[in-house]
Amino acid sequence: MKNSQIFPFNKNIIDEIKDAAGADYVVTDPDILKQYDRDASFLRAIPQVMVMAQSAEQISRLLNLANRRKFPVVPRAGGTGLAGGCLPISGGVVLNLSSMNQILSIDTQNLIADVQPGVITLNLRDAAREKGLFYPPDPAGMDKSTIGGNAATSAGGPSCLKYGTTKDYVLGLEVVLPQGNIIMTGGCTRKGVVGYDLTHIMVGSEGTLGIITRLFLKLIPHPPAAQTVAAIFHTLQDAMKAVTEIQIRGHSPAALEFMDARCMALIKDLIPLSISGNKGAFVIMELDGAVEQIDASMSAIIPILREMGASEILKALNEHHRESIWTGRRQISNRIRENSVFNVAEDIAVPVGRIADLADNMPEIEKRCGVKLYAFGHAGDGNIHINITASQKDHPGIDDAIRAVFKTALAMGGTISGEHGIGYAKKSFINLELSPVSIALQKDIKKLFDPNMILNPGKIF
Ligand SMILES: Cc1cc2nc3c(=O)[nH]c(=O)nc-3n(C[C@H](O)[C@H](O)[C@H](O)COP(=O)(O)OP(=O)(O)OC[C@H]3O[C@@H](n4cnc5c(N)ncnc54)[C@H](O)[C@@H]3O)c2cc1C
Repeated sequence: MKNSQIFPFNKNIIDEIKDAAGADYVVTDPDILKQYDRDASFLRAIPQVMVMAQSAEQISRLLNLANRRKFPVVPRAGGTGLAGGCLPISGGVVLNLSSMNQILSIDTQNLIADVQPGVITLNLRDAAREKGLFYPPDPAGMDKSTIGGNAATSAGGPSCLKYGTTKDYVLGLEVVLPQGNIIMTGGCTRKGVVGYDLTHIMVGSEGTLGIITRLFLKLIPHPPAAQTVAAIFHTLQDAMKAVTEIQIRGHSPAALEFMDARCMALIKDLIPLSISGNKGAFVIMELDGAVEQIDASMSAIIPILREMGASEILKALNEHHRESIWTGRRQISNRIRENSVFNVAEDIAVPVGRIADLADNMPEIEKRCGVKLYAFGHAGDGNIHINITASQKDHPGIDDAIRAVFKTALAMGGTISGEHGIGYAKKSFINLELSPVSIALQKDIKKLFDPNMILNPGKIF
């Protein structure tokens, strides 16, 4: 995809942008701009201008100018989004927040991290860990994604089964609103009900309602130990029965992930466990807490896995094994992308008890649309990453397959996006899930925040 519109920048406007943002932070070199034409979706759009963000005040000046000159501003951070949310599809200035990347403090008394938006997710997790604290949200792209991007998409990850998603950790925000006002939302307390919850209107708004320039995040004590176990099942149905049964019987694993046999084949070399045959499904479970607690849960869960038909149960023997299993899990998306000509990564969610039914529908969709599907993801909370791959980019069956997957999920009481967001990639499908009244109300909210529609236009709706 090319930019659908180009804003008519001229030398005067570029000079005004330099005045507002600082000439050193304005990028106009086409060779550099070309490198920012993508995120992790299949979409492409080259920025016309890029501004490296430095402070809320600088961003405020830029947004003021954008309102006067009516050019779009598109926030971008790690560029790992899977919905095209950070791409300038209507042209304009890309505001790159990756340079605001300081961890300002980790308060070990109040268990709060105060960070700039461009901090890499993994860096915050490591910094918290060093102080005995835990920042649980762990999207699989966390070695490149940023905390600001995670908040803008309310990112999830394997640990969100037990610990919740990014939205559950955002206590307060500093935000530059589309017209340039700087506001604080929420604060440093774990409770707060004064006025509407603007913090959680911002979280998940995909850069359409404001620019997040500072975050106050909840931390929790780091669990003292963790153990990972993997189980192989002959069928996906058996695997999913095990996933539900473990939870129904009162266990709370930190993560319960699965992958189908096709995904398993792609990452087999990364996992230090000997896996025989080409079985139906693979479940990865992590338990955390005190060692005795983990041992007790493990003793109760392993018989459940056997009862539900696990043919092999493999415990990570040491920390290195454990880390390798999770590396393998996190690499699935990349491996699918490397091994297919064209790939669309969807992230529907269904009630946990319906995952097997969902899987039953996949062969028919593959056959009818002429595509190949890969399924993996967060089985414990029903958030399944269906990757639709095709032998060519403009394969006629792709759109039908996306629509069929979405309709199947919705018919089961699910949603078309559990964590990646709508961005640009899914905007034409949003009316499958939301009513016209709901869409109209949300468009009104957008207009209230951004009357000139300069901030990340053309996204979500
Ligand atoms: C290999 C891989 C695995 C992934 N696994 C997961 C997963 O398990 N769970 C999950 O939820 N996602 C996953 N993702 C998707 C992606 O990592 C998340 O959506 C992530 O939160 C995006 O962060 P980012 O910093 O890369 O943001 P970007 O891609 O740069 O931007 C994403 C959106 O946020 C907006 N934005 C960014 N920064 C700001 C800001 N400071 N203020 C306002 N708006 C902003 C952008 O405009 C855009 O709409 C995965 C991606 C990859 C490539």
